[in-house]
Amino acid sequence: MKILVIGSGAREHALVWKLRQSPQVEHVWCAPGSDGIAQMAECVSANLTDVSNVADVAAKLKPDLTVVGPEQPLVLGVSDEFAKRGLSIIGPSQSAAQLEGSKVFAKEFMQRHGIPTASTYGIFDSAVDAYTSLCEVDWPVVVKADGLCGGKGVLVTSSPDEATAFIELLMETKEFGDAGKRVIIEEGLTGPEISYMVLTDGEKFVPLAASRDYKRVFDDDKGPNTGGMGAISSDDLISKEVEKVIQEKVVRPTIAGMARDGKEYKGFLYFGLMMTASGPKVLEFNCRLGDPETEALVMRMNFDLAALLRAAVSGNLEGVATRWDPKVSLSLVLAAEGYPGTPKIGGVISGTREVRDCAIFHAGTSKKEGDEYYVRSGRVLNVAAAADSIVEARAKVYGAAKQIFFEGMHYRKDIGKETASAANRVARP
Ligand code: AMP
Repeated sequence: MKILVIGSGAREHALVWKLRQSPQVEHVWCAPGSDGIAQMAECVSANLTDVSNVADVAAKLKPDLTVVGPEQPLVLGVSDEFAKRGLSIIGPSQSAAQLEGSKVFAKEFMQRHGIPTASTYGIFDSAVDAYTSLCEVDWPVVVKADGLCGGKGVLVTSSPDEATAFIELLMETKEFGDAGKRVIIEEGLTGPEISYMVLTDGEKFVPLAASRDYKRVFDDDKGPNTGGMGAISSDDLISKEVEKVIQEKVVRPTIAGMARDGKEYKGFLYFGLMMTASGPKVLEFNCRLGDPETEALVMRMNFDLAALLRAAVSGNLEGVATRWDPKVSLSLVLAAEGYPGTPKIGGVISGTREVRDCAIFHAGTSKKEGDEYYVRSGRVLNVAAAADSIVEARAKVYGAAKQIFFEGMHYRKDIGKETASAANRVARP
């Protein structure tokens, strides 16, 4: 098999790393990839904001299938362009990718199909109406921009002033352009969060192991939201019983609802769930694999990912066996100074070659001349490992993090510190 991976971050590096282990895989390209990914895949340039350019790249390379990492090309319709040209791709159509591309679409979809989610105080396209609605809410509330804002479009707050300022930022200052034209104001939920992903062919699905990401920049979930600072995956995150509830109340109705609405969903589908006292509720959908969850998941995949992808594109998911290593895995993001604000870039990175026992996935690095890697963007490296216990996994990953250095490097120290057994205590809805 020849496989093309679309993207350039640590998630795509992790996919390449896993695909390269398959005896069925003869060649892997990554578009556009990165200097780090070039260690194990042939990188080819591509403009991910131009879906016909991405399809041109695939048409030239002729891979057996293409798998898309980031959401943007999917939301822009890359799968439709591939389908038009008869090229195989893992990823939903543009209309199905609205589950991630528009939070208003997702909320109305969930309401229509009875999928558990936070109740809303309203969906607004007027800032004045949004401000007025704040007089009649129970705090905390959550204010969400409709469109893609790179993880910065959601505010959870108990402060009317903060909520007002955020609505102003989205709807009047237009910080995120059209993405903030409409906002949702919804109930603030509490409980542990779980990332649950599946691969679906539009009808059947294969679940991936549960994981959890850590979105806030500082320990103890302090500071602003980021694209993710680390993740864990373990069989202990949710019990089999809770997983069944997730599948029956959330996954199946979502896949069936999309099909019923004429927007059949094919590809990876990510459910961001809050495990509340009244059962799992959907916070968000993503139309692709999570990052940094994928970096933790690949460490536990005791099956051939390439075979799974091939089964998905040929509509053959039934009977595909996925075997997950019972180990616990952990992925840790090493971030640049200033991240999630403007990162300080350009610093030289040392120590990665001395790391043993962990995988190093490159998120935002580049080479200049010579062999040295430099900081290229906010999330710089991802260090991942699996072990028999969370204590050992933490020891491996944090041991490796101590060996790596670049000026201004920061990372959370508490990834996986309290394990997530709380999710299992959740009552059934
Ligand atoms: P989203 O992009 O919708 O997943 O939101 C980003 C983060 O905001 C989530 O991971 C949660 O931590 C938080 N969040 C979103 N919606 C809610 C909600 N209704 N109640 C509490 N927290 C929320």
